[in-house]
Amino acid sequence: MEPFVRDNQSYLTIEPWMQQFPGLVAGFTTKTGGVSHGEFASLNLGFHVGDQVTDVCANRLIVAKELDFPLNRWVGAEQIHDIVVKKVTKADCGKGADFYDHSIKGTDGFYTNETGILLTLCYADCVPIYFIAPDFGMIGVLHAGWKGTVAQIARQMVEAWNKDGIKPGDIHVTIGPSICEKCYIVDNRVVNLVENILEDVDGKPYNLINDGQYSLDLRALNRQILLKAGIPAQQIMVTNLCTSCDSELFFSHRRDQGKTGRMLSFIGWKEI
Ligand SMILES: [Zn+2]
Repeated sequence: MEPFVRDNQSYLTIEPWMQQFPGLVAGFTTKTGGVSHGEFASLNLGFHVGDQVTDVCANRLIVAKELDFPLNRWVGAEQIHDIVVKKVTKADCGKGADFYDHSIKGTDGFYTNETGILLTLCYADCVPIYFIAPDFGMIGVLHAGWKGTVAQIARQMVEAWNKDGIKPGDIHVTIGPSICEKCYIVDNRVVNLVENILEDVDGKPYNLINDGQYSLDLRALNRQILLKAGIPAQQIMVTNLCTSCDSELFFSHRRDQGKTGRMLSFIGWKEI
């Protein structure tokens, strides 16, 4: 079953989690319902892509209102395709919400066990991975392109939570809208790195399609990394939505040849 359900024109929510965990807000935005123009039309939420800053802020306010989660409670990052995950607290609220220079530097993952904080990251094809340990109130989200994926940022989050006393068996994961294997062609260099981390795994997440060209399933690869890190298979949900296939719903860096907007992953506990 597809975990992401379209709530309104601006975003999809992880419906099974929203029903199961009261107070949780978690999902992924679409490209529609905003005010940006041209290649950023219309709900671009990324500051760093060359769009008008005033339009990005207006778009963020639209999503904040729809979610009923004020912008001054959002946390945003300067993402660098690395494997740093950072625990955030109320003291971080508002960083990177309406001004990119105030983003939390050099991080591709956030987690928190506090309420009233919305963790947000930007995407156009890379994989959003959401985490929750309901018994501990811990939530998190990360950004995994091929670099972060093969460097195993997904494992990084599991290990960070482990230090807080949370075991892999306590953790539920959802892998969100991102580029599918049909749309994602990579070369030997990337596939060699994938091979290095999946020596003992059956069912490789890539296929040779031409000499030196492979289609790579980043979602399946991240799922295998999470299984190896100890997350039970029945606690991992994976979307079928592809950001490149679905040009009505999503921006895609590959499809749009680099000049495009960004969607936002979000997860937070509403203040009760
Ligand atoms: Zn696709």
